[in-house]
Amino acid sequence: MKIPYVDLKAQYLSLKTEMDLKIKSIIENTAFIGGDELKNLSVNFAKLYGADYFVPLANGTDALYIAMKMMGIGHGDEVITTASSWISTSETISQTGAKPVFVDIDDFFTIDSNLIKDKITKNTKAIIPVHLYGQMADMSSIMVIANKYKLRVIEDCAQSHFSELDGRRAGLVGDVGTFSFYPGKNLGAYGDAGGLVTNNSDLAMKIKRFANHGSLIKHHHEVEGMNSRMDSLQAGVLNVKLPHILKWTDDRIRVANRYFNGLKGLDYIELPKVRPNSKHSFHVFGIKLKNRDDLKAYLEKNGISCQIHYPKAMPFMPAYKYLGALQSDYPNAYSLQNQELSLPIYPEMKDNQIDYIVEKIKNFTKI
Ligand SMILES: *Cc1c(COP(=O)(O)O)cnc(C)c1O
Repeated sequence: MKIPYVDLKAQYLSLKTEMDLKIKSIIENTAFIGGDELKNLSVNFAKLYGADYFVPLANGTDALYIAMKMMGIGHGDEVITTASSWISTSETISQTGAKPVFVDIDDFFTIDSNLIKDKITKNTKAIIPVHLYGQMADMSSIMVIANKYKLRVIEDCAQSHFSELDGRRAGLVGDVGTFSFYPGKNLGAYGDAGGLVTNNSDLAMKIKRFANHGSLIKHHHEVEGMNSRMDSLQAGVLNVKLPHILKWTDDRIRVANRYFNGLKGLDYIELPKVRPNSKHSFHVFGIKLKNRDDLKAYLEKNGISCQIHYPKAMPFMPAYKYLGALQSDYPNAYSLQNQELSLPIYPEMKDNQIDYIVEKIKNFTKI
C-alpha cells in the first residue's frame, strides 16, 4: 500500500464538477482581482467562523506582518512568541522592525504560558501564540497576562481553522487571528492565500486598506501600504471549499481517534495530548519517540510518507544565531525537533489506510 502524507487530489476529485465550473466562470468573466468572489468569501467566512470581520489577504505570512504593523508594532519593540512554529511567526516580527523573543513550549506543544512573564520587558508590545498542529494554546492564561501588561495578542491560526478551546474559536480570543490557506492547510487554496479574523472594526478597516496600497476607494491613497490582496481564483476555490470545512475537520478528528486507539499502550511512543474542553483540528498528528528517524525510514520503506514539523525550532535556526540561544534554554522545543514524527492525516483517509500504518508501527516495535 502507498499512503501519501496528504492527498490534495482526493479532495479535488470530491469537488471536481463544482470546482471546474467555478474556475472556468472566473476565467471567462476575467474578474481576476477583487469582485464578487472576494466579497462573498469575506461575508461567508466571517459568518461561518462567528467573527465580525474576515479580511482576505495574499498569504498567512502577510496576515501576521500586517496585523502587527497596523497595531503600531515596530522598531524598538519586542514581541513574545513560541519557540516551535513555522518561521513565518517570527520572521514577520523582525519584518516590522521589532525583536522576536522566544518562549519554550508546554506538554501540548504550544507556548508555555508559565514562562511568558519572565520574558516581558518595558519594550514588550504583543504576544503571538501559535495554535500548533491544530491545538489551541492556553489562551485563558495568556489573556490574563496580556491584560495585566497591556499587550496585544495575535493568534497564529495557520494550522487551526475552526479549532476551539473552552467554547471559543481560535482567532477570536485575542485581538486578531491570522490564517493561511496554503494548499496543504486544513482549508487550502490552489496557490498562496491567507486572511484574518477580528472583531475590531477599526483594525479590520486599517488592515484591508494597508493590504490594498493604503486605499479603500480607487486612486484615493490615505496612507502608504502594500499589495497583499488574495486573488479571485483563490477566493473562488475557497468559496467552493468553505461549506465542507466543518465536515473535513470532523474527519481529521476521526482519523486522529483511530490512531489514538490503534497506538495506545506502545510505551516507547508518546501520543499527542489533547487539552480538556477543546476541539483539536489535527492539522498535524505528531507522535514523539526517541528513534524517530529509524521509524520514519521504516514507514517510508513500507510506502508510508511522513514528515517532521519541524526539524529545527526557531531559536536554533541559523537565522536566529544572533540571539545566542542554548539547547538548555528551550528543552521542550529541542526534544520536539528531535523526536517528532508527523503521520499521514487528511479528511479523505480510509480506515484501512490508518490501520495499515498502525500495523507497520507495531511491527517496527518488534524489530
Ligand atoms: C503555514 C504557516 C504560516 C504561513 O502561512 P503562508 O500562507 O504559507 O504564508 C504561518 N504560521 C504557521 C504556524 C504556519 O503553519
